[in-house]
Amino acid sequence: MENIEDTYFETKCVHSGIKEYEYGPVVPPIYQTSTFKFKSACHGASLFAGEEKGYIYTRMGNPTIEAMEDSVAALEGGHKALGCGSGMAAVHTVFAALTQFGDHIVCSHAVYGPTTTLLNSIMKRYGVETTFVDASNLDEVKNAITAKTRIIYIETPGNPTLSISDIKAIAKIAHNAGAYLVVDNTFMSPALQKPFEFGADIVLHSMTKFLNGHADVIGGVIIVRDEQMYCDFRKVLNQLGGVIDPFNSFLVHRGIKTLALRMQQHCESATAIAGYLENHPAVKKVMFPGLRSHPQYSLAQKQQKGPGGLIAIELKGGYRAGKNMMNGVKLFQLAVSLGGVESLIQHPASMTHASMGAEARAAAGICEGLVRLSIGIENVNDLINDLERSLDKVNDVKDVVMN
Ligand SMILES: *Cc1c(COP(=O)(O)O)cnc(C)c1O
Repeated sequence: MENIEDTYFETKCVHSGIKEYEYGPVVPPIYQTSTFKFKSACHGASLFAGEEKGYIYTRMGNPTIEAMEDSVAALEGGHKALGCGSGMAAVHTVFAALTQFGDHIVCSHAVYGPTTTLLNSIMKRYGVETTFVDASNLDEVKNAITAKTRIIYIETPGNPTLSISDIKAIAKIAHNAGAYLVVDNTFMSPALQKPFEFGADIVLHSMTKFLNGHADVIGGVIIVRDEQMYCDFRKVLNQLGGVIDPFNSFLVHRGIKTLALRMQQHCESATAIAGYLENHPAVKKVMFPGLRSHPQYSLAQKQQKGPGGLIAIELKGGYRAGKNMMNGVKLFQLAVSLGGVESLIQHPASMTHASMGAEARAAAGICEGLVRLSIGIENVNDLINDLERSLDKVNDVKDVVMN
């Protein structure tokens, strides 16, 4: 595998990050150890001095974690990656590594809720101010830049409305301002979108979602462009301590082997389901980057290799219909999160975004009848039948038990 860099993406999914290990295992072993023995005092000293490569303590590095990190870095086309204990640990580590008191961040409105909360609470308390913008509007992004702006932070497609931001154009804006562009690529995975190709400086993921793909791990990752940035970020991660553990790294690395295949099926099934939903009388609007009706359809075509597995729909029947739809499905699991092999459904107005209140939801474009679907890899006909049964009941609201 000397020339893994020259292979296609599917091959990289299977082979990247894997090295030679004692006894010649095909799969990297799980080095479930907190610490590593030094051969001698000199060896220990030279490891600490960075003169020799090796492992010291698992918070600072571990072969199982490194195998997963190298795999993700290869898939994203980045220099190196840093495994984190969750997507939020990755987000926090990036903010902590790049900002100091008095700095400013420009962030898209359409990011993961806890990212917004982190910026508005802890980062603000540490003296870092954030301006939230509609990142699908480049003038808004430009106008929010100040002399203190260090980061432009975007997620595309955005959460939960699947609005799309132009990575290349925003990278230019960031670089003209002397700022970094950070892209949360969780919704796409490197199978469908490679932000480095469009000028991003840092890419991060919640590996809990598509990268692991099996809804059994919490994990995150940061991918950087160069060695200097890697060393800086590694120091910060060592101090903050939000690292991933060897077993979860093993599971994610295992999940990555089928990433290309899974993403292909997510895209194919979601496309069929989005088309079905667009023609359903109970549905007012379907938000899906693969539909021509998506306001940034042509940008999606340019920047994404596929539409992804997430669909947002607006039901004509509003809040009540949204709740009824949750109660009507059997195969779709009623749960937050996304990107696993099983299809999930959730109703932001009564669930993830309930605490915002109706007014704030309206301002953020989250209408009361918005339902978010994460399309899994089950047979698409079963999924459509499940939605059909549920949507029939949504039309006949009085028959559905409310909880
Ligand atoms: C889930 C998610 C996160 C946070 O990841 P955790 O692993 O839950 O900490 C960040 N960004 C996006 C887009 C997500 O979907």
